[in-house]
Amino acid sequence: MFSNESIELTINKNPVKIHAISTGSVAVKTKFSESKKTGVLAKLDFIFDKKFTEWMPIWVWVIEHPEGIFLIDTGENSNIQTPGYFKSSGVFANWLNRAMFRFQISREQEIDKQLLKLNIKPKEVKAVFLTHLHLDHIDGLKHFPETKIIVNKLEWEKPYGDLPKLYPHWFQPELMELNEQYECFDNACFLTIAKDLIALHTPGHTNGHMSILLKTDNCHILFAGDVCYNQNQLLTNCFAGVNISHIKAGNTYKRIKSLAKFNKLVFLPSHDREAGKRLKELVTLKII
Ligand SMILES: [Zn+2]
Repeated sequence: MFSNESIELTINKNPVKIHAISTGSVAVKTKFSESKKTGVLAKLDFIFDKKFTEWMPIWVWVIEHPEGIFLIDTGENSNIQTPGYFKSSGVFANWLNRAMFRFQISREQEIDKQLLKLNIKPKEVKAVFLTHLHLDHIDGLKHFPETKIIVNKLEWEKPYGDLPKLYPHWFQPELMELNEQYECFDNACFLTIAKDLIALHTPGHTNGHMSILLKTDNCHILFAGDVCYNQNQLLTNCFAGVNISHIKAGNTYKRIKSLAKFNKLVFLPSHDREAGKRLKELVTLKII
C-alpha cells in the first residue's frame, strides 16, 4: 500500500544510501493516535472509541553507511494477524491489543524478504537500533538472532505494560546509556566513529524512547520513531493518546523544533504516510 523509497546522499563525500521500507500497514483507534488525555483516562477513551484511523505505514529505515549497514527498527511480522498472537501477554492485554489495532501485513513485506530485494542478507546488518520496544517496531527481530541489537537502557528498564512477555525468548539487547550532549539534547550517544549517527533521548511516547539523527552533507535526517504519528502533530503540538507523558512529549517537540531551526532537518516518524516521499525529495521541516 505504501511504496518503498530510496535516496543516495554523501557523508564527507562518501556515498550513503538510505531506504524507507514499508513492512505493512497498521490502523489504530483514533483516540489512541491523538488525545489530550494519557494513562487510564486515555485507555477508557480508546476502548469506547469506535473509529479507526486510516491505514498507516510501519517504516523500517535502512542506512548503507560507510561504517556498515544499520537498521532502525524491524517493523511488524505477518503472524500478528493470527488470533492467539497476544495470548501470552495475559487475558486483558490480549483483548486490548486485538481491539485496538488492525494490521495488513504479508510475509513478503517482512523486513528479511525486503532486505534481500536490496541485495542485503540480514546477517550483513552491523547493528539494529530500536527506537522503543513496542511490538510494531520489534516484531521483525526474529530475523536477526545473530545481529547486535541496541536499546536505550532506560527503555529496557521501564518497558510498556506486559509487552516483555511477547519478546523473543533469546532477546538480550546491548543496552546503551545516552549520557552525552548533542546541541539542545542533554541525553545523546554517538553511534559511529565519524559521529554522524547519533541516538537522541526523545521521551514522551515511552520513557526511554530514542530517535536517531543522521548527518549527511546535504541535510540532517531524524528517524523519529513514535515521537508523533505524523509531522503535522509536531507542528500543531498535538499528542498521541498512547503517550506516557504529554509534558515529556512537549519538551521533545521543543528540542526537535530547535534542531530544525538551526539545521536543514528531514523529519521521519515511523507511521507517517508522507515520510517516504519526504525522504526521497528531502523535504525539510519548516519552523516559523
Ligand atoms: Zn510505539
